[in-house]
Amino acid sequence: QKFVYDFTEGNKDLKDLLGGKGANLAEMTNLGLPVPPGFTITTEACKTYLESGSEPAELRDEVSAHLDALERKMGKKLGQADNPLLVSVRSGAKFSMPGMMDTVLNIGLSDASVAGLAAQADNERFAWDSYRRLIQMFGKTVLGVDGELFEDALDEAKAAKKVASDTDLDAADLKKLVATFKEIVKAATGRDFPQDPREQMDLAIKAVFDSWNGDRAKLYRRQERIPHDLGTAVNVCSMVFGNLGPDSGTGVAFTRDPASGHQGVYGDYLQNAQGEDVVAGIRNTVPLAELESIDKKSYDQLMQIMETLETHYKDLCDIEFTIERGQLWMLQTRVGKRTAGAAFRIATQLVDQGLIDEAEALQRVNGAQLAQLMFPKFDENAKVEQIGRGIAASPGAAVGKAVFDSYTAVKWSRSGEKVILIRRETNPDDLDGMIAAEGILTSRGGKTSHAAVVARGMGKTCVCGAEELEVDTKRRRMTTTSGVVVEEGDVVSIDGSTGKVYLGEVPVVPSPVVEYFEGRMHAGADDADELVQAVHRIMAYADRVRRLRVRANADNAEDASRARRFGAQGIGLCRTEHMFLGERRQYVERLILADTDEEREASLKALLPLQKQDFVELFEAMDGLPVTVRLLDPPLHEFLPDITELSVRVALAEARKEPHENDLRLLQAVHRLHEQNPMLGLRGVRLGLVIPGLFTMQVRAIAEAAAQRIDAKGDPRAEIMIPLVGTVQELELVREEAEQVIAEVQAQTGVELKLALGTMIELPRAAVTAGQIAEAAEFFSFGTNDLTQTVWGFSRDDVEASFFTAYLEKGIFGVSPFETIDKDGVGALVRSAVQAGRATRPDIKLGVCGEHGGDPESVHFFHEVGLDYVSCSPFRIPVARLEAGRAAA
Ligand code: ADP
Ligand code: MG
Ligand code: MG
Repeated sequence: QKFVYDFTEGNKDLKDLLGGKGANLAEMTNLGLPVPPGFTITTEACKTYLESGSEPAELRDEVSAHLDALERKMGKKLGQADNPLLVSVRSGAKFSMPGMMDTVLNIGLSDASVAGLAAQADNERFAWDSYRRLIQMFGKTVLGVDGELFEDALDEAKAAKKVASDTDLDAADLKKLVATFKEIVKAATGRDFPQDPREQMDLAIKAVFDSWNGDRAKLYRRQERIPHDLGTAVNVCSMVFGNLGPDSGTGVAFTRDPASGHQGVYGDYLQNAQGEDVVAGIRNTVPLAELESIDKKSYDQLMQIMETLETHYKDLCDIEFTIERGQLWMLQTRVGKRTAGAAFRIATQLVDQGLIDEAEALQRVNGAQLAQLMFPKFDENAKVEQIGRGIAASPGAAVGKAVFDSYTAVKWSRSGEKVILIRRETNPDDLDGMIAAEGILTSRGGKTSHAAVVARGMGKTCVCGAEELEVDTKRRRMTTTSGVVVEEGDVVSIDGSTGKVYLGEVPVVPSPVVEYFEGRMHAGADDADELVQAVHRIMAYADRVRRLRVRANADNAEDASRARRFGAQGIGLCRTEHMFLGERRQYVERLILADTDEEREASLKALLPLQKQDFVELFEAMDGLPVTVRLLDPPLHEFLPDITELSVRVALAEARKEPHENDLRLLQAVHRLHEQNPMLGLRGVRLGLVIPGLFTMQVRAIAEAAAQRIDAKGDPRAEIMIPLVGTVQELELVREEAEQVIAEVQAQTGVELKLALGTMIELPRAAVTAGQIAEAAEFFSFGTNDLTQTVWGFSRDDVEASFFTAYLEKGIFGVSPFETIDKDGVGALVRSAVQAGRATRPDIKLGVCGEHGGDPESVHFFHEVGLDYVSCSPFRIPVARLEAGRAAA
């Protein structure tokens, strides 16, 4: 096993082994771009180290060999007194984890070599500046010294000299600062700052390994669902210097705008600085375009390289670069993060440029991004009080109470408050606050600042660099230039698409993408924005290739019509229990209370025309498309009043000697129907078999509604679905009765009816005996909510609050099985039931209804096991269409 790869040995496809940064440094090296030489220690080495607690023995030798080679190539030795080679030790996991892991620059500097560096560069100030940076970074990230101690000392040095910028400190000041920094290290750790360059390097490598298991890194991985066992690679890269003077500098850039996708020059540049300075927002950067007038040659070269990278990666890339005395060096590139809107635009732009095809375009976007684009925006016509404007870093409209620290953000959001986290700038310590907040607002930093990068990654609204806002975290308030004071708890609204900040709550309106799906905006129209056009095109690609059909869960004509506008190809689940609420509840009550057949029949008779009318409307809204109607499913007591309320009412009436005959009967019924485990009790098909006339009334309503629609020249395609079947006998009994009713309706109306009858597969027994059940079912709809409950033995209503958090934290599952289908367990049952069902009845129709039908990952699974359709709530339909297309492309 080889643990170390030279940059010339790797390539971009080795991310598992070399991490993203290492793989891309190798790729750029092999593209012939100017990358400072170096090597990458593999993630395997990290894993071995983390498992055994010490580095593998071969690692040390391999590192030595690669260091030797590097030293020979560079013509200097690591930390050599008169002519030192300096390196950076950089973390880099497979997935980028902004700010999570630690990087140390200028390794190899010591009391001995600092003079050598000064001589090499003919610049004493630079050498001491580099040394103080090394002690600062190394002290903080490797030795665990509180970083503020260094920052305070730096501030003191500036204050003593009455200067604002660290560039105003001269060699002598920095030399003094180095001495102070060394004292800080000694005081905090009880040891001297290590002077041996190889020891510095080895300690830094270990620190990178260890940072994989740091709390922040773990939290980020949980958030982003990155597995915990990947490990990080470590890159050792020879240093180039952006802090050598005004002809040097460092910057970051995107090959196109990560917010809009537009091509152009996007980035920030900072003269006379080292890499970290740009991101940290220590000094104000200039827009990248200004580099053209600062250093035309490097600028032109950079533009050329960016074009090379885009054509090579066929995607938006972000890059880090440094200019050392007019010589440009590439320090990092990766396929860049982008907003949801930009993802859609860039995908279609790249198709137009001929760089990718439609199938690839589908892989460049995803359902989560589409869902994000369907979020509402602020109402443009609302009266607003704008109090500031920053950079639109991550889109969305967020409203919440101002909080100024992460702790409060978490605390308030736990108690149900919506909060906006306001900071001067964020750092990795703010992560839990950022997660808890509706949105993030900072007064400093650009599009590449920590807040912006992390918020975009989380899909959270963010406005950064709102400079006219003076954020005072100590006093928990912010002041605007015009003197408005926002205290903790005051409501603010931030617009991540425009960068505007408002005082108070701004009303929100639907997104243009939803307007488009609703048919209120046409992609072809002149005023349709680029985003809508891009979404329109991508949806067309998806619809063209997908095999899964997408239906809606809808119980009324209004939802059905909306679903249809959103692209639904029918209704996969109409829950009839929703038709028994409101004023109809009284009939259900009477049905439940009925002592005699007459009473029962009377209430069923009252319900029949109401049900029928519901179905007429539904079939009309879905004319020509299938509508699956599920017969009554929930336990009856759900239709009865709350037991405590009712008891109180009865007791009061008794005390007051008022009549309470009816309530008393109700109370008795509630007691009679009470079940310990209602989800496993008298519900679904069991109701139909136990309460005479209930299911036949529903079937009659469906049949009569269908007949009426046919009479009106409509095309109703009703499918009758029996819930909670465990054995084929249950289904056969219901089927016999249903067929009889349908025959009666046909005879009465003279209309020929074709009604399909099928069942839900939502009990393990049904899944296991699916082959038998298919004898009596023309279709299966997998009810994966109940199936998950019954396969795992989880009560969905209880587990999320009780132990799921612990399970997620312990990594027993990465995501709730109610959110994404558990492929190995529940999924395996679905898979075998699909096969068994088709074996019995080759033309059986197979679908899924329930939350999983609109979950991206689950949709891919349902495609793979060969279902015919998924059904989900109307709003998720575009997401399901897109994901079905992505699964098939
Ligand atoms: P991160 O993953 O946090 O971006 P990096 O490893 O990319 O960490 O390094 C942090 C900063 O230091 C970046 O701006 C990077 O460009 C700069 N940097 C890293 N290695 C070198 C080097 N060898 N020479 C000059 N600058 C470097
Ligand atoms: Mg970087
Ligand atoms: Mg169910």
